[in-house]
Amino acid sequence: MYPLEKIRADFPFLQQKKPVIYLDNAAASQQPRCVIENYASKHSVTINDFALARHKVKAFINARCEQEIIFVQSATQAISVVAHAYGQAHFKKGDEIVISAMEHQANSVPWQLLSQQIGVVLKIAPIHVSGELIFSEFEKLLNDKTKLIALTHVSNVLGTINPIKKIIQAAHSKNIPVLIDGAQAIAHFKVDVQELDCDFYIFLGHKLYGSTGAGVLYAKSRFLDAMSIYQTSNGSSAELNFIKTKSQVGKIRSSQVIDIVNLGLAIDYLSGIGMAEIRAYETQLFHYATEQLMQIKGLRIIGQAAEKVPILSFVLAKIQPVDLAILLNKAGIVIRAGDHRAIPIMKFYAIPATVRVSFAMYNTKQEIDVLLQVIDKLNSIR
Ligand code: PMP
Repeated sequence: MYPLEKIRADFPFLQQKKPVIYLDNAAASQQPRCVIENYASKHSVTINDFALARHKVKAFINARCEQEIIFVQSATQAISVVAHAYGQAHFKKGDEIVISAMEHQANSVPWQLLSQQIGVVLKIAPIHVSGELIFSEFEKLLNDKTKLIALTHVSNVLGTINPIKKIIQAAHSKNIPVLIDGAQAIAHFKVDVQELDCDFYIFLGHKLYGSTGAGVLYAKSRFLDAMSIYQTSNGSSAELNFIKTKSQVGKIRSSQVIDIVNLGLAIDYLSGIGMAEIRAYETQLFHYATEQLMQIKGLRIIGQAAEKVPILSFVLAKIQPVDLAILLNKAGIVIRAGDHRAIPIMKFYAIPATVRVSFAMYNTKQEIDVLLQVIDKLNSIR
């Protein structure tokens, strides 16, 4: 049996006197007590704690060795590291990079900048109205000039899980490396970078029940070896820097060490529950929420891919997304409304914004019922 009650008890945020229904997990998840207590009480972490955290991250995604794990501060920074330290060193004018129309801007802006800087051409794989990548169109974009595919594992708006294994196989058959933005995937199912055979994989601590500031860039060793120096160290915290052969790819702020140790603790917590158990539970929640939301008059779900994580975007005929977010907030329900920094998706569906509800392992059917009741009521009085 899924230990829902125990999980909820482990999250102090969910134990408040005036309960908050937290459904903005795609932005940042809450932290379990083991992470919060470490943060508050243990400021003198040692280099061993840090090394152990790197080991836990390595094991969690099944990297080959610790050296393939580089700590960064954000997804934008991780992708910028690849654009600068790898792209600038190996791509030239006229080379092509393929992204998709469902990227968060963290995985488009660094490539746009690279395009301005060295003249690489950005190709954008189109999506279907279901919110799925059109694989046949994507494949047509691959050619001799393609130097990299940079794709999101899961869309932060549509919830779509992209068939990245198939994509990576297609890319590798043409010797094209693949970078995957895993920010929205990592908390919802097991990610095994060796099994996927991706060349770069990126994720963030604060979407994985850890704290902000602990971003991870996984890169296969041979790509790290092929990178130029991204950032040099001032020497003050040299021990904490990740040393890539002779150069330093990522420089760690001392305060970030705590965030990284917290990421290790969050991984321990998740491993104790099991990613398969979390996936099964969240899928039930997600189907329940989808069925319920579809009953609401004038509600249109944006993104109905066959394979999704529990992220649900929608628009209502009578209430604007931001207005709904404010009204729900007043009722103690936290959701997100906006373009979610994925403007091409908004353009594709010809809408300015969506309401996004995103679930985590601690959410409940009862919370969904309350959400539905409040939306229903607001909808009926307008
Ligand atoms: N990529 C995806 C798919 C995301 O959902 C998010 C967070 N919304 C990011 C990247 C975050 O990027 P950054 O850490 O640079 O803010």
